[in-house]
Amino acid sequence: MEAMNVRQAVRDVPAYRFEALPALVKLDQNESPDDLPATLREAALARVAAAEWHRYPDLHPDGLAARLAARHDWPAEGVVVAGGSNVLIQALVVLSGIGRNVAALSPSFPLYAQQARLLGAALHEVPLGPEHAFPTEAVIDAVAVGSGVGFLPAPLAPTGNAVDPRDLRRVAEAAGPGWTIVIDEAYAEFAGSDHTLLARDHPRVVVLRTLSKAFGLAGARLGYAVADPALAVELRKVILPFSVSALQLAVGEAVLDAPHWIDERVRATVAERERLAAELRVRGVRFVPSVTNFILLRVADAAATHRGLLRHGVLVRRQDHLPGLAGALRVTVGRRDENDAFLRAWDALTRVNGEPHA
Ligand code: PMP
Repeated sequence: MEAMNVRQAVRDVPAYRFEALPALVKLDQNESPDDLPATLREAALARVAAAEWHRYPDLHPDGLAARLAARHDWPAEGVVVAGGSNVLIQALVVLSGIGRNVAALSPSFPLYAQQARLLGAALHEVPLGPEHAFPTEAVIDAVAVGSGVGFLPAPLAPTGNAVDPRDLRRVAEAAGPGWTIVIDEAYAEFAGSDHTLLARDHPRVVVLRTLSKAFGLAGARLGYAVADPALAVELRKVILPFSVSALQLAVGEAVLDAPHWIDERVRATVAERERLAAELRVRGVRFVPSVTNFILLRVADAAATHRGLLRHGVLVRRQDHLPGLAGALRVTVGRRDENDAFLRAWDALTRVNGEPHA
C-alpha cells in the first residue's frame, strides 16, 4: 500500500457501493423493467451495422444533441452529450468545483460528494428538511457567497419526493455569481417536471438528464446536459474527446426517433407506482410519497428485510447507510408481475414476524 503512488484524496474515498446479487426480480437499480421492443432493437442494430467502426465518432455527438435539443426546444449548441450523466457530474466538478466548493444535499446521489472529495473541492453537505423536504433556505445559505457547483436532484433522490419549482427558482435567484447550479433531473419524465424552464432564465443553471431511466438505455450509457450555449462550450472542453462511441450514438438515435415508446413506458411505470403505493398504504408500510420510478420504504431492520426479500427472489436496494435514512430500503417500480412478486414476498415476511424481518 505504501509503495502505491496514489493521491491521499483517492485513497480516502470509499469505492462506489454496489453489490450485484443474482435475483429473479431485480428492483435495485431504478432501471426500466422492459428492454426495447424487438423492432426498435433491430433499428438500432441496423444503425450500428451501418456505422464506420474504423473511424473516430463525432467529436461532439451533434446528431444526438440536435434530437435532444428539439425535445426541449433548446438550441442544439447548448446540449452536451456524454456517456451517462455520471460523466457530466464529474465534468461539472472539474468545470466549477475544483479548488472551490461543491454543495450537495444529504442524503442524495453519492456521486456528487465522491467527486468533490476525489477532485479536491470543499464539500458542503446540506441536510434535507423535515419529511425529506427540499431545504430551500439552507441551500440558499450554501450558495449565496463564494464559488463552486451545487448539485440539486429534482425529484429528490434517493427519497423520490418532488421539488417545488418555485423553491429552485428562489435558489437560482439567490445564488452568488461564482456558482453553477446543477439540477439533476434523472427521474424527470416520471414526475412530469421540466426544470429547463428555469435554465432559460438563469444561464448559470445547468439541467442534467439521463437516458438510463425512462428511455430504458442504462446499458448503452448516455446522458446529457442542457445549458446556456456559452457554458456548454466550456463544459465540452472538460469531457474527453470522442468519449461517446459510434455504437452508443447509433442506439441513442434509434430510440430518440421513436419517442412514443418512451411515453408509453413512462405511463405504465407511473400507473404501477401509484398501484404499488396504494398497496403499501393498505399494509401500513412507512414510505416517502414518490414522483419517480422508485419508492423509499422504512423498516425496523433494513438488513434483515433485504435478506428476507432476497430469499424470496426479490432484490431491492439498501439505503440505510445514508445519513438520516436508518431502516431505508429502495424498491424500483417494476412491471406489474414483478411488483406483485415483491408484494407477495413482503406479505410472506410479514406473516412470519408481523413486521418484515428475516
Ligand atoms: N443522478 C441521479 C440522481 C441518479 O439516480 C443516477 C443514476 N442512479 C444518475 C445521476 C446517473 O445516471 P447515468 O446512468 O446517466 O450515469
